[in-house]
Order: sequence, then structure tokens, then C-alpha cells
Amino acid sequence: MVKNDCVKCTDFVNCRTQIVYPTPCHIGGLLAIGEAPGRDEDIAGEGFVGTAGKTLDKLLSAHKISRNDYGRANICRCRPPQNRKPTTNEINACLPYLAEVIINTQPKVILTIGGTPTSIFCGKGSLYSILSEGWRRDSWAAKNYINCAHPEIKPVLQYVQHIVPSPHTSPLAFNRNCPSGEKWAVIAARQVKTAVSLL
Ligand code: SF4
Repeated sequence: MVKNDCVKCTDFVNCRTQIVYPTPCHIGGLLAIGEAPGRDEDIAGEGFVGTAGKTLDKLLSAHKISRNDYGRANICRCRPPQNRKPTTNEINACLPYLAEVIINTQPKVILTIGGTPTSIFCGKGSLYSILSEGWRRDSWAAKNYINCAHPEIKPVLQYVQHIVPSPHTSPLAFNRNCPSGEKWAVIAARQVKTAVSLL
């Protein structure tokens, strides 16, 4: 992967310590995609090293997938100021880099972590409604999302077999209840298990 000094997003350039480049998965592997780096990731220069990342590691290691066995990337590669949500312009600016990673690594399964990455890959609607639709269909085939994915992502879905959305693994999100009354943590564990079963 060619490193660069992208300066497309002014707010991020003034806030970031460094660009956090993805850790690609092997071809046909599992790629987890988050929203953007947080403080720990910004300092380390590596994605998914904070609390939420460690929780995901733990969920995957329960299925014998170690940190070396899966790839990690974000919708935006730079830490947003105060960890705010990236704007549409910032997302649009960074998605071509993510599309390139997907073309180069052709993951069999993409695990979207939280609402923002899920909306980019699976379209509009709440995370819970997207999950409910997947459960109803009992299918996480990438082709199901071809008409609702972000225009930058749509063409690269041909390289992916499955998109499995998951709740965010941060402690704040994890301990809340979803609309059915289940803990998001329980749903995240279930979705991670599903993602591994599809590899
Ligand atoms: S978020 Fe992406 S597009 Fe924006 S400055 Fe960082 S690397 Fe560039």
C-alpha cells in the first residue's frame, strides 16, 4: 500500500497525529470496518487498538480468529476532532481509499462495526432495522446491498461475498439495550459468530 500525506479534510489535518492506514486482511479473509480512528489509534498509528478494538479482538478470538487473522480499516483514516462523526464530505473524500483496499484484498466477509460503516455498505435506516432485515432474510450476501450501498462502494461489492453488520463494540454502545430489549453486546457477539461462520 502506497502511503501518502493526504490533506483533503482540513479539520482532520489540524487534529490528527498521523493518518491511520488500514491493516489489510489476506485475500478471501475477514475485514472489519469502523468509522474513524479514536485517540488511541491516532497515537499508535494503528486501527482498533483502543477499548472497542480490544473487545472486537476478544469476540473474534472466541472463534479462534486472532488479531493477525483479520484485517481492519475505517471509513475515514484520520481522527475527527473530539471524536465527532465525520461529515458527508469527509466520508466522500476518504471512501476511494477504502474502495482500493477492498479491490486489492477482496475480503470474503466484511464486518461493519457500528451505524456509520453499516449505512455506507447497507444503505439508509437504523442499524437495528438493517439487522432485522438480514435476520428475516437469513442472508448476509453482499449482492443484497448492491442497490443501497454508497456509490463509491457499490462497484467494489463485486469483490465481496458477505456483508455482516454489527453494533459498535465501544463500552458505551455495548451495554445499552437495542429496541427488542436485548443488549447490543449480545447482538454483536452473534453477528461476529455469523461473520466467522461465513469465512
Ligand atoms: S480522512 Fe481520509 S480523505 Fe480526509 S484527510 Fe484523512 S486520509 Fe485524507
